[in-house]
Amino acid sequence: MTFDWLIVGAGYAGSVMAERIASVRNQSVLLIDRRDHIAGNAFDTLDPHGVLIHRYGPHVFHTNSVRVWDYLSQFTEWRPYQHRALGLVDGQLIPVPFNLQSLRQLWPPDAAAALQARLIAEYGMDVKVPILRMLEHPDPEIQHLARFIYDNVFAGYTRKQWDLEPRQLDPSVMARVPVHVSEDDRYFQDRFQALPRDGYTAMFQRMLSHPNIQLRLNTDYRALPPGLEWRRMVYTGPVDEFFEHRHGRLPYRSLRFEFPHVPAAQHQPCGQVNYPNTELFTRVSEFKHMTGQEIAGTTLAVEYPQPHEPGCNEPYYPVPRPESAVIHEKYQAEVAALSGTTIFIGRLADYRYYNMDQVVARALKVFEDSVEPLDRD
Ligand code: FAD
Ligand code: UDP
Repeated sequence: MTFDWLIVGAGYAGSVMAERIASVRNQSVLLIDRRDHIAGNAFDTLDPHGVLIHRYGPHVFHTNSVRVWDYLSQFTEWRPYQHRALGLVDGQLIPVPFNLQSLRQLWPPDAAAALQARLIAEYGMDVKVPILRMLEHPDPEIQHLARFIYDNVFAGYTRKQWDLEPRQLDPSVMARVPVHVSEDDRYFQDRFQALPRDGYTAMFQRMLSHPNIQLRLNTDYRALPPGLEWRRMVYTGPVDEFFEHRHGRLPYRSLRFEFPHVPAAQHQPCGQVNYPNTELFTRVSEFKHMTGQEIAGTTLAVEYPQPHEPGCNEPYYPVPRPESAVIHEKYQAEVAALSGTTIFIGRLADYRYYNMDQVVARALKVFEDSVEPLDRD
């Protein structure tokens, strides 16, 4: 059988490309995934108790991009959801990202008021300050506060999550959860924040139900059955694996999930509780807060960070640091050399710490910029 396109991976990157190529270009697509389901790491499913869970950890959709929002809205309705997280610090659950509420919770009222005034005077109101930047502030009071936040919110969590010190990672990683000089206690401030009303998997099913798309699950690109041919390819798996690690292995971080079920309507006060200082796990998420599902009993996701062991667990996170960038550059040169026939895209193929909306945005852009020119050849 001959297809116009082979697409490897049915997560966001592969599925958006498949949908665009099938419906806009009217070309045939063979979409494969080595897992037994679509939706990649956004896959959701009912657990044995009937609770809708995200098998690869909690996924909250958030974006400022009207284009991404409008695109996905063709395939789903939404349940608005503003994500909030708490962190266990000094025996108290405080809002994370650290904000003015967190400050008032931990400091005596007079000291908190003085520090709050100082922060607002220095940075302005509703401003996000990455912790690594705040640490460099010359004012001893601000530095003392920054040191406290660093020690109690970031250092322990980051050692667990990455097995690294915060400064060993690219500054963009800590900047994902900045100190927020604000009363706003939401995890994200994006314009659009919601979960697909019927779940992520249902959204992907609609995206992929096109006669030009043939889907084959449990199918690894490295062990394709004979007799399949294609003209062009999109690859969304790990870039170093594609090139058989010829320039060395790129580092990834993995997770082990536990999904305990609790026979109570609700277990914790919000969707996510972080444990920066105690416990072996980093965070506990409670899906019902996010999905709004009404059902007796509740299921949690507990995340235990792990080293990535190829063949044993999943490469969930690229590790953004200079050592990885040196290896990645060599693979980027290989990718460029194949640009006439193969498109590499997604969190693993680009080796970038993307959120879901960034992958969709990138796929829509790559479709416009690369698929059309390839077709003209
Ligand atoms: P993936 O979803 O990883 O899809 C790649 C697919 O390719 C996989 O299904 C894989 O099986 C398949 N594949 C790989 N190699 C092969 C091969 N050789 N043959 C066949 N198939 C192959 N983003 C947010 O915006 N909000 C969140 O709240 C959020 N939470 C997250 C929580 C966790 C714990 C993790 C790990 C990620 C989270 N993300 C979140 C990020 C989000 O999961 C990713 O941005 C997105 O899923 C990446 O899509 P992708 O298509 O690039 O990759
Ligand atoms: N982080 C932290 N303490 C927290 C939350 C986050 O130290 O309470 C750091 C940690 O290094 C983490 C990174 O910030 O890996 C990014 O956090 P985010 O919540 O964005 O991680 P993700 O949801 O992608 O796992």
